[in-house]
Amino acid sequence: MQPIRRSDGAIDNAVHLMARDVARETVVCHGCREFVFMMWPFGWDVHSASRCAGIGGSDPEKRKLEFKRRFRHLFRDARGSGR
Ligand SMILES: [Zn+2]
Repeated sequence: MQPIRRSDGAIDNAVHLMARDVARETVVCHGCREFVFMMWPFGWDVHSASRCAGIGGSDPEKRKLEFKRRFRHLFRDARGSGR
C-alpha cells in the first residue's frame, strides 16, 4: 500500500501503512480522522490522552494504551525497543 495524500499533503491512509512510511510525515490521525500530526509520531501521546475522538473512555493513560494498541504498527518501537 502506498501513502495516499490529501490536497494539503497530509497522509490520509496511515492505518494501512507501516512506521517507515509515516515517520516524520504530516499524517491525518488514524483514530479520529480529524486531527493532523505535523510530524508523526510527535504529539501522539498528548492527542490520544484527551483529544482523540476515536478513542473511548476518559482515563488518559488507558486512552494512550488503547491508541498505541490499535496503531502499534505505526510506531518504530513496535517490537519493544525505545519509546
Ligand atoms: Zn485522533
